[in-house]
Amino acid sequence: MNYEKPKKRNPQETESSKQYKPRPRSEQGEPQACQHLRLLDCNKPVSRAIFECYHCQEGLLCEYKNVLPVQDIDVRCPSCGKIAIKLIGQEVISTTVIPSPWKSV
Ligand SMILES: [Zn+2]
Repeated sequence: MNYEKPKKRNPQETESSKQYKPRPRSEQGEPQACQHLRLLDCNKPVSRAIFECYHCQEGLLCEYKNVLPVQDIDVRCPSCGKIAIKLIGQEVISTTVIPSPWKSV
């Protein structure tokens, strides 16, 4: 008759497998997962966001309606024409190119 032995776990083995490995940094030239962004007046119906374009790093000031219903809105960069950032809001009012506060000249 077949009898399955209860699997015994080696406590030392589990211990070592629990060790955290440092996350490998992706060096495959992927777009940066972070972007400068500063939100102003986010408690008001019209909010402002200062950020850098995801693509060309141009400084941008975006005014947008921050009232319900909100949705994902794509803010287009006036400088390069690509989607500069995605915000949550109702509608973009204006996007203005400004000198980036993060750029060290
Ligand atoms: Zn751009």
